[in-house]
Amino acid sequence: MLQVKGLTKKYNNILAVNNVSFEVESGEIAVLLGPNGAGKSTTIKSIAGLLRFDGQILINGLPNKTIEAKKVFGYVPETAAMYEYLTVYEHIEFIARAYRLDESYREKAEYLLKRFELYDKIGKLGKELSKGMQQKLSICCALIINPKIIMLDEPMVGLDPKAIKELKSIFIDLKNQGCAVLISTHIIDSIEEVWDKVLIMNKGRVILSRTREELEEKAESLEDVYFRHTEGVSGL
Ligand code: ATP
Repeated sequence: MLQVKGLTKKYNNILAVNNVSFEVESGEIAVLLGPNGAGKSTTIKSIAGLLRFDGQILINGLPNKTIEAKKVFGYVPETAAMYEYLTVYEHIEFIARAYRLDESYREKAEYLLKRFELYDKIGKLGKELSKGMQQKLSICCALIINPKIIMLDEPMVGLDPKAIKELKSIFIDLKNQGCAVLISTHIIDSIEEVWDKVLIMNKGRVILSRTREELEEKAESLEDVYFRHTEGVSGL
């Protein structure tokens, strides 16, 4: 379970995230929506432990910057950052060693790389990969650790239709395994079939939090709700 309590982040004078609180339960897929500059990436980077912030972020009850918390969360950044001189498979091996995974990771690596059509490219260097291939490898690296919580910042960007289909099906697998999933995206269609909870951010705040059931009760679509709450307002 992911708990964000009173998260506030300032970049010099810019209040990028303003007292944001929300939770993502185990086995829940939450989607973070919002216009450009709303504070989504800053929220995700804070959870990933990449920024200093005020407030509290707990991963399965542990502060997000502890080793124990880091061991169980996967993060797919907005822009994949691969090592130029490591091969596809060496990226996976590097993560496996850093996280001290047992040898069974090799089987999982084969399964994931095949699912994302990277298995025939395991000897290619990071610098030889296309943007989409880098994104797919970045996703495989986050998944190989068997995360209890995973965050993905604009994960569909640059992916081909087959990879998008696989990723959606992986979201459902993760949910069924009890993983808490947080996805930030602008492409509302891309997560329409999979989301359980929507968090809409604007100007550094979460302005709306709704479950799928709550929207269904009112016969509202995600798109309707998004535009109603963000129309005519811009980010910071
Ligand atoms: P987008 O959808 O465009 O990716 P976002 O919702 O992810 O936007 P953030 O990237 O979190 O938004 O930005 C929130 C605010 O913080 C914006 O006003 C942005 O200009 C500012 N900001 C983000 N990163 C920095 C930084 N490194 N230094 C200064 N200001 C920043």
